[in-house]
Amino acid sequence: MEVEENSSETPMVVENKGDWSGRWSHVQRLLLRSGPLAHQDFEPGPQVLEFMLDTAKILVIGAGGLGCELLKDLALCGFRNIDVIDMDTIDVSNLNRQFLFRPKDIGKPKAIVAAEFINSRVAGCNVTPHFKKIQDHDADFYRGFHLIVCGLDSIVARRWINGMVLSLLEYEDDGTLDQTSIIPMVDGGTEGFKGNARVIIPGLTACVECTLDLYPPQVNFPLCTIAHTPRMPEHCVEYAKVLVWPQEHPFGEGVPVDGDDPTHVQWIYDKAKERADSFNIQGVTYRLTQGVVKHIIPAVASTNAVIAAACALEVFKLVSSCCNPLNNYMVFNDTDGLYTYTFEAEKKDDCPACSQRPQVLTLPEDATLKSLIDILTESQTYQMKAPGLTTVIDGKNKTLYMQTVKSIEERTKQNLPKKLKDIGLTDGQEVVVADSTTPKPIICRIDFSSGME
Ligand SMILES: [Zn+2]
Repeated sequence: MEVEENSSETPMVVENKGDWSGRWSHVQRLLLRSGPLAHQDFEPGPQVLEFMLDTAKILVIGAGGLGCELLKDLALCGFRNIDVIDMDTIDVSNLNRQFLFRPKDIGKPKAIVAAEFINSRVAGCNVTPHFKKIQDHDADFYRGFHLIVCGLDSIVARRWINGMVLSLLEYEDDGTLDQTSIIPMVDGGTEGFKGNARVIIPGLTACVECTLDLYPPQVNFPLCTIAHTPRMPEHCVEYAKVLVWPQEHPFGEGVPVDGDDPTHVQWIYDKAKERADSFNIQGVTYRLTQGVVKHIIPAVASTNAVIAAACALEVFKLVSSCCNPLNNYMVFNDTDGLYTYTFEAEKKDDCPACSQRPQVLTLPEDATLKSLIDILTESQTYQMKAPGLTTVIDGKNKTLYMQTVKSIEERTKQNLPKKLKDIGLTDGQEVVVADSTTPKPIICRIDFSSGME
């Protein structure tokens, strides 16, 4: 039926794939009329919901704690063409929060079970599962979506998909960005009671690499605290693991701590408990010990629910334009009460992923290949995992170093201690760097000239 202008009643929805009367009245309140927060291009009307229901194609990456929530939220908002990628299978420990899964599903692929659940539960919704790694899909696959939303627990995967959406951007001859090539990305992340949601408009706003310093490397407790002034149960566990274990080598000289071996965890737990008792610290348990030893941060269902809801809302806003999207980063913390704020993460002029500029690596004249690789792996800017480096010397492609292929590693590791100049690299030389954190290699230009300090 027609929607009356200025109707004070909740408008009825056009019949669509078995929709019952009033099914979408909750979203129609936002889509059939404008408001002060609406995007400037927003044109209210029934066509907006129709677009959401029939046309919009959304890709959800991850079908775990965030992914289950996201799929449910998006399906109930009215998105019907959803794809989901996840390479994992269901484990018993997932069941307390990944609520699309049941005990009978243990061992089955998350993506497939999640898709079947949503499709059978939400009438008209069509979730297509992909039991794969994100790296198994090519650019054409990703280009087929209007929007990508990530519920990932891996920074490497997040960086990879960020690189993928950036690689899809097309520029006109005069360097202006072709707006139709932009696929917005909404990214959620949680860690215990902390979470964040962000909106990335590739090429226009800060990307994942622009803000890499927001994902600091694994935080370790300062050794002096562990050794002398423990205050937290975690300090006691670290004490047993880092200081007592290597002294007493309870399972033989040189045997490392194995977090999957219950006898190892029990031993550390006993020592940590002793330590905690002597400092009157509460809270050392076997579970905590295992968590600290294996660096596990427990997943919290409520944090996932909040962050997924925030992400789904951003998807709704971006697809419908009914409201301006988050600009562009929300932080959430409910460790102690409830705390949240937003800020605008800034696009970095020389971002390795989105700046369109070659990366300049300033090095001293006598720098070795090893020191160049150290910059790529250790610096906040790059945080690469196992970079492979190639370049062109005397018109020939030359692999300088590659760790990921055993035979090439064997052949190229001799280059590591050599000076770059002795390998044949000159000032201004371009080195192509490939890494698991990016789908597209990064070009780095060696700069010896200003490295003279
Ligand atoms: Zn960037």
